[in-house]
Order: sequence, then C-alpha cells, then structure tokens
Amino acid sequence: MRSTLSALLLGATLAGLAGCTALPPAPATAATTAPAVARPVEVLWLGQSCFRITTPDGRVIVTDPWLQQNPKTPPAYKKLEALGKVDVLLVTHGHADHFADAPALARLHHVPLRAPGDLNAAVVALGILPAALAPRFNKGGTIEPAPGVKVTAVRAEHSSVLNFANPITGKDEIHFGGEPLGYIIELANGFRIYHAGDTAVFGDMRWIGERYKPDLALVPIGGNFTMDPQDAAHAVKELLKPRAVIPMHYGSNPLAKGTAAAFVQAMGTSTIRVIVAEPGVPVSF
Ligand SMILES: [Zn+2]
Repeated sequence: MRSTLSALLLGATLAGLAGCTALPPAPATAATTAPAVARPVEVLWLGQSCFRITTPDGRVIVTDPWLQQNPKTPPAYKKLEALGKVDVLLVTHGHADHFADAPALARLHHVPLRAPGDLNAAVVALGILPAALAPRFNKGGTIEPAPGVKVTAVRAEHSSVLNFANPITGKDEIHFGGEPLGYIIELANGFRIYHAGDTAVFGDMRWIGERYKPDLALVPIGGNFTMDPQDAAHAVKELLKPRAVIPMHYGSNPLAKGTAAAFVQAMGTSTIRVIVAEPGVPVSF
C-alpha cells in the first residue's frame, strides 16, 4: 500500500515538474482518446477458388492460385507479382485450376506451399519444388504458417491428381495428388474462414460447422465437379451454418454451369449473409 501511495505521489510530482518546463502539454487528440479502430479482414476473390485474404495485422494468405490462365481473373491480377507479398500459400488439391501458379508463387516469395502431404511428396519427387518449400501435413493437422494464422486441414469429398509435363520425355504425365483437403483458417482476432476446396456435400460438414463455427464459408457451386447451387445451399443452411458465405468455383469451366443467381435463389430466406463477390473487388469483414 505504501509503495503504491509513493508511486502515486512520485507520479504527481513528476507531472507537476513536467508542467513547469517549457514543453507544451500534449494535445488531447482523437487518437489518444478514442479506442483504436481494428482493421477489417479483407477477402479478395480472383476467380475459381483463388482468394487473397489480408488479416487485420497485415498477413496475406493466398488460396488455390490459378490466375494466369483463369478466364475469371481480372487482367490486373494475371501477373503473379500483382498479388503483392504472400505470407501463406494454401492449395487444396492437385488439379490445375487450383495448383497451376502455386510453384511459381512459392519460388517468387520463398514461401512454403501448404498442400496435401502426399501431393507435396510428388511435387518434391518430380523436382517441381525443393523439400523446404513443400512441407507435409494432412487432415486433422493444425499448423501456424505465419504468426496469428492457424490452418487446420479437413476433409473434402473430391479427388486429386498432379499433371506434370515431363521435360525429359516431353510427355504429359499424371501423378498421385494426395487426398483433397478443405481448410479452416483462424486469424488472431478469432475470425474463422472455411475454404471448402472442391467438394461434394458430405455429412461431416455438420461436424465442421459445430466444431469450428466458421464466420465465413467459401463454397463451390459450379456443379459437375463439385456441389451445384442447390447442394451448396443445403450444405450452408443445414450443415455449416456460417455467418456469411461467398460462392466460388463457377464461371470458369463450361461444364460447371452453376450460377451465383441460382445459389442466391436456393439460399431463399436464410438469414445467412450471401455475398456474391466480383473478381478483383475486395469484401471486408
Ligand atoms: Zn478439383
């Protein structure tokens, strides 16, 4: 108690001394009186399943980069350098519309490619990336690839192969691409994103919803290779139950005919916020 009182008196004395100097008192600005305004989470869709997610503390996460050949990617983002820095590089499976630009981005930023462990085993064996840029993890595993960014690998109901143009034979080869994944991305402020990858509906989406309680779900709606708008709406409304959803994986392949309008219609009167993102136009949370 005495030391506390002494400290208070000392503080008062020092404050008094400060008042006697020629220094002007610090102005009471809004910055010192108002609480700090947290920066939002910025989510930028770049077509198919590629997103650039910027966290409130400035970390940049890129998912499933297919940019140079993607018809939905805005011209401004066709050059990989246009993404700016990349702290976390996530790929859900080996199909080219998710994987194509990942090796180049990994080398450009010297950032490890986070992908299904067995896909990365093939990536290293084929000499696409060195082992240091292709670490392995798998379903159920949680990693922290950058401070304040946690990524948990979860199931996706799909397939995965790795297409490889063999530079020695000049022939195209198909290699095992591991099991496809979805990802739970948890940010330092608690915001959770579920990136479903390519997937059909599966019953454990209910478990993913209950266990991880995603604030935002990114779900494929194109059909043919994945859920169509009706199945995706069922998954979101009945199983995942996020606060908001952005449809993805449509409009880039003529076989995947699902549309955002059909997804919005299938969501009906649900209170879940449906955000139809425009490629290249950021959305803030
Ligand atoms: Zn796929």
